[in-house]
Amino acid sequence: MSNDSCIFCRIVSGDIATDFIIEDDDVVAFKDVTPKAPTHVLVVPKRHIADWNELAQSAPELAGPMVQGVARVASTLGLPYYRVVANTGEKAGQSVFHAHLHVMGGRPMLWPPG
Ligand code: AMP
Repeated sequence: MSNDSCIFCRIVSGDIATDFIIEDDDVVAFKDVTPKAPTHVLVVPKRHIADWNELAQSAPELAGPMVQGVARVASTLGLPYYRVVANTGEKAGQSVFHAHLHVMGGRPMLWPPG
């Protein structure tokens, strides 16, 4: 279930060579190409799912591996604190329509975000 026109599917498949910070049967994590924090990593399901609404409806079993992926990224990179973001929909800032979690750290975070 991958989509040739999806940039994250191409990363998952190895079509675009990318260093994975973590990988398991369900998810991969890699550095965001335009980081918004000193550490900015994306946790991405291997299966093509458009967004968090679709994940909740069609693949809720992936929520656990995604959350565990976040914790493994934080542990692997030694992040003492971090922010997790799931932009869902264009007006929320989603630009890649393959579900993912942003893990950002390495600087103090302001609240609320813009
Ligand atoms: P969002 O805007 O929430 O959908 O997040 C998508 C993120 O993917 C953005 O922060 C982009 O910088 C990032 N991104 C897009 N293309 C790539 C790529 N080839 N490798 C790594 N990150 C990417």
